[in-house]
Amino acid sequence: MGEWVNGDPMAKIIDGKAIGQAVRDEVAREVTRLKETGVVPGLAVVRVGDNPASAIYVRNKRKACEQAGIHSEEHDLPELTDMPALLGLVERLNRDPRIHGILVQLPLPKGLDEKAVLRAVDPAKDVDGFHPFNAGRLLSGDPSLVPCTPLGVLRMLKEAGVPLAGQEAVVVGRSNIVGKPMALLLLGENCTVTICHSRTRDLPAVCRRADILVAAVGRAEMVRGDWVKDGAAVIDVGINRLPDGKLVGDVAFEEARARAGWITPVPGGVGPMTIAMLLSNTVRAARSTL
Ligand code: NDP
Repeated sequence: MGEWVNGDPMAKIIDGKAIGQAVRDEVAREVTRLKETGVVPGLAVVRVGDNPASAIYVRNKRKACEQAGIHSEEHDLPELTDMPALLGLVERLNRDPRIHGILVQLPLPKGLDEKAVLRAVDPAKDVDGFHPFNAGRLLSGDPSLVPCTPLGVLRMLKEAGVPLAGQEAVVVGRSNIVGKPMALLLLGENCTVTICHSRTRDLPAVCRRADILVAAVGRAEMVRGDWVKDGAAVIDVGINRLPDGKLVGDVAFEEARARAGWITPVPGGVGPMTIAMLLSNTVRAARSTL
């Protein structure tokens, strides 16, 4: 349970920046070891068109790679790139021995077949974990490269000491990127898992059952304080920009904090973990070539 502040029980804040930094330090040590065996882990980021949000992510990824000693390269293709050109680049990167991880920045411009592009990435280099082969491995209880955001969430829960086995976990959101893999990871930890989505009946009541509540919806502050069970761990994956420019999550933070046992802030929660786990997956992919 949380600490007492001004006589009220308040949730412990799970600090994604600090845990993410610890992961990045681990990665940097592993990179040093790999370099001693002659392997420099390499990540290629493919971006099509100039979505400004992606530009910021790509810049942050490059900086994080540099700090960890990972070789990184960016491939920026014009907005009007066609499928053969994009698939040709992915094929070249699949064959390039200096590259251990390939990340195709989503969303792709309209007209490009996202699923076909993700399927073209060599599953051994699929550091986003979006290839159907890696999704299937996670589903069958034999995970290999797992999507970075849910992997980061699991790491946060473990680092915070949140009990998992036998607990009720509710995941709001069923995307292939966050919700579904999150639910599978929690199932792998022996949680009893419920997945909710836009058609779920009485969402607040389902959320109130959760010992672990993960919100991955993309709706500013949708999860209210009275949706949170006393003492629950509340993980906010959402990143939403309000009209005044402020960044908020999918959870009404102050309300939820008064009920929860643990909670992640936005920003400074899940976000920094995603990049850290991307580096970790890249090193994992490089290690598996030894
Ligand atoms: P998607 O839009 O792909 O999925 C959203 C999910 O939320 C869908 O399953 C949708 O249901 C569900 N949903 C939408 N409205 C409601 C509602 N009113 N009630 C219940 N469920 C609802 O988003 P992502 O999974 O890609 O991302 C979710 C959020 O996480 C976004 O804010 C995104 O920015 C953020 N994000 C953050 C990352 C990080 O690093 N911190 C990384 C990735 C994402 P249905 O399937 O029925 O449509």
